[in-house]
Amino acid sequence: MIYTGGTIGMHKDLVTGTLVPFDFSRLMEHIPELQLIEKEIDTISFAQPIDSSNVRPEHWVLLVKIIEENYDNYDGFVILHGSDTMAYTASALSFMLENLSKPVILTGSQLPIGDLRTDAKENIITSIQIAGSYQGSQPIVPEVGIYFEFKLLRGNRTVKASSEHFNAFESPNYLPLAQSGVDLKFYKDRILPVPDGIFNTHKNLEENIIIIKIHPALNKTYFSHIIDIPDVKAIILETYGAGNALTQDWFIDLLKEAIEKKSIHIINITQCQKGEIIPGKYETGRKLMSIGVYNGKDLTTEAALTKMMYLLGKKLSKKAIKSAFERPIRGEMS
Ligand code: ASP
Repeated sequence: MIYTGGTIGMHKDLVTGTLVPFDFSRLMEHIPELQLIEKEIDTISFAQPIDSSNVRPEHWVLLVKIIEENYDNYDGFVILHGSDTMAYTASALSFMLENLSKPVILTGSQLPIGDLRTDAKENIITSIQIAGSYQGSQPIVPEVGIYFEFKLLRGNRTVKASSEHFNAFESPNYLPLAQSGVDLKFYKDRILPVPDGIFNTHKNLEENIIIIKIHPALNKTYFSHIIDIPDVKAIILETYGAGNALTQDWFIDLLKEAIEKKSIHIINITQCQKGEIIPGKYETGRKLMSIGVYNGKDLTTEAALTKMMYLLGKKLSKKAIKSAFERPIRGEMS
């Protein structure tokens, strides 16, 4: 179990009244139930636990290193993480851990573990059970998942959907991998198979990627400045509906300039919660694809960003990046 921080291990600062992370040994004192689990659990903590709003790609590299160094010694890994950026971290880890054949389950909570009404205990205990669930020598969930409020979701399909409900996460385009009720029910047909290849990690991530939400007041001045930012490698466009955006010449010309002259990868994903890009459905969507914008299908923003960070970090050719981007490589798109 790897503790990174987040509300789960926070307490109220008496001076400011805000929630700040406390150290891991105090967190463990709050879950004596862990001793009842018939599993051997070792724990490791970030030296400086963080509110996950402070997460950076360096933290993902650190998590990958911890998993890599301990990979052969454990059946699975549980990562305690703040909920704010949990979907980003889960998505990033899914790409950075190639041929993963052990469960990596992220969880956290909406209320600190010391709070009487906390959701932390159930989340931690069931996550540990999932991480240790095997059928013979085969793990039941050989992938990166998020367990929260009775549901196990595929990490790279998940978004944080509520800051006030215990049920904080949704996986809008993929059904849950498991549900916890009286029994812990796994939906095996939705879970990735154990891969054939050898476990491998990737720690090079490109950071120069911009996310732009298309909106009716987007104008030429503002958009041209974005295209002109030095060193931008990719732009993720969150477009309307099934992948539509304005077709005015200035917009299409700026995108063409970005693609052809600056070799920027431009990606189309939808700003809708549910559904996917259907490039030929409307003229406004077809136009984007015709100039070489990539089809992000039903990727979440979190998965689109981290998939691009990973692919660009591999220094592949432009053609190879487009081809890998547009097909599922870790179950992240349909
Ligand atoms: N701000 C907190 C964090 O992401 C929220 C949480 O843990 O739920 O670390």
